[in-house]
Amino acid sequence: MTRVVDLLAARTCVSVELWPPRTDAAAARLEATLDRLAELAPDFASITYGAAGSTRDRTHELVVSLQRDRGTTAMAHLVCAAHTRAELESILSRYREEGIENVLALRGDPPEGSSDGLADGELGHAIELVELARDVGTFCVAVAAHPAGHPGAPDVATDRRRLARKLSLADLAVTQFFYEVDEYLRLVDDLATLGVDRPVVPGIMPVTSARTLERMAALSGARVPDALADRVAAARGDPDEIARVGVAVATELCGALLEAGAPGLHFYTMNQFAATLAICDSLGLAGRREGADADRRAASPLMNPPVV
Ligand code: FAD
Repeated sequence: MTRVVDLLAARTCVSVELWPPRTDAAAARLEATLDRLAELAPDFASITYGAAGSTRDRTHELVVSLQRDRGTTAMAHLVCAAHTRAELESILSRYREEGIENVLALRGDPPEGSSDGLADGELGHAIELVELARDVGTFCVAVAAHPAGHPGAPDVATDRRRLARKLSLADLAVTQFFYEVDEYLRLVDDLATLGVDRPVVPGIMPVTSARTLERMAALSGARVPDALADRVAAARGDPDEIARVGVAVATELCGALLEAGAPGLHFYTMNQFAATLAICDSLGLAGRREGADADRRAASPLMNPPVV
């Protein structure tokens, strides 16, 4: 069973996001990271794709090698940006022929200097890539969700309606990172109100440096709570303390998400293992037991919505 949506139905999944290395040194670091993450036995790994198609072959190679050589269920990110429909069809067909079953269909961001505000590709929005993936194969298709609303949307309500339409055609969503459990719960509630109950996997990005936090939040539109910004600012210049704060904050968030019945945790690892392992260790997820998951799910309000 390697369709992510089936894995999520069977147990609370822990997954990791990785990016394809650009250099031999980065490739060696990634191998070391993968060796360490193997201790966690992630349920699946998703592999990023450069918005301008810059990682096309490297993403493909890492997806296929993870699945074939390491036996890890792989989810290939793919973006509309900078591609024609025919190119996307060919990339998807190649995955289908290699036995890759999971894709994350994304718009990607417009290349620098793009004038029309839309991704510079033939398909304008991720929903069109979901439809294309459905035409090409029997993929399990994931999409991105933005708890604070996508920064390009006119307002959160409009973004939610668009997301609900996109997710109703897909199998699951993975969220942009966020730091307050209520943001995730509001997203799931809003989708339920719009009639969509597909699994929404929360994306977790443990803070590892003040600069990365600021840059990633600016890029993604994710909200950084003042209390977290203050703690990180107070630890500026002390990388060990920032890492400790990052792990503590993310551990608390993950615990609350699991309590609330989130179907899994997806870690933006930035190709590093330390924070992800530390958080999973604290939460007892390193040696996960199906029975424990079943107990947690049975007690969860999200997995057992009230009958009306
Ligand atoms: P869409 O769903 O297309 O939405 C983008 C914007 O268009 C939103 O404002 C939405 O409200 C609006 N919109 C949607 N449909 C319509 C419509 N029909 N008419 C008008 N407006 C509409 N980027 C990469 O380049 N590579 C990656 O590997 C990558 N991985 C990611 C993984 C995750 C889990 C997440 C959350 C993001 C990732 N991104 C990646 C970033 C992503 O490409 C950007 O966030 C991008 O700006 C939006 O992508 P989307 O798929 O949500 O787009």
